[in-house]
Amino acid sequence: MSIAQNIVQLKASLPTNVTLVAVSKFHPAEALKEAYDAGQRVFGESRAQELTAKQKVLPDDIEWHFIGPLQSNKVKDIAPFIHTIHSIDSLKLLQEVNKQAAKNNRVIRVLLEIHVAQEDTKYGMTPDECRQLLQSEQLAGLDNIQICGLMGMATYTDDTVLIEQEFHILHELFIELKALYFIGNDNFAELSMGMSHDYPVAIRQGSTMIRVGTSIFGEREY
Ligand SMILES: *Cc1c(COP(=O)(O)O)cnc(C)c1O
Repeated sequence: MSIAQNIVQLKASLPTNVTLVAVSKFHPAEALKEAYDAGQRVFGESRAQELTAKQKVLPDDIEWHFIGPLQSNKVKDIAPFIHTIHSIDSLKLLQEVNKQAAKNNRVIRVLLEIHVAQEDTKYGMTPDECRQLLQSEQLAGLDNIQICGLMGMATYTDDTVLIEQEFHILHELFIELKALYFIGNDNFAELSMGMSHDYPVAIRQGSTMIRVGTSIFGEREY
């Protein structure tokens, strides 16, 4: 099937409250254009340099999401246009995003990345580190960021029960944090979880944003 067909089929199968982030890392701009022409507007990239290069040559109404590990010194490159950053894992990074967003007179949406998988290769904060971040007095005054929810990755496994448990932990944490820190704040509404191999499980566990690459664009060549 073509990229366009993959997009159309996948979208038709999703509940209306679930946003599809088309993860286009390592695929050329032409592949993104094909998805764009099939109606896709939300794209996810994981490297700042690759993202800025694509942003320059693709249409302006694309909503760009950053989903990979983000170094502080790269924030300034994506701050002029990035819509949502899924991979916030420290207060320091949050402060840098706020600073660069302010320089660009923008408000950048961010998600807090939580480590729930069993592999230690996965990025993100522990639930406790996340609670500490949200309790920090230094959050006050960060007017150029909007904390919109959580992001996480499950263990890469065929064990659906384990994946289900990990996504469940994320959902429970989301509910806890919402009640503690974001009551009445409609911005805190996103649970970014689910990739090509596990997004149906993620949706069952309350995902509002799935990040799908391979099922749309095919295998990546690194
Ligand atoms: C690459 C990537 C994805 C997409 O993975 P697929 O298995 O290709 O769907 C999703 N989330 C993150 C954080 C990624 O780095």
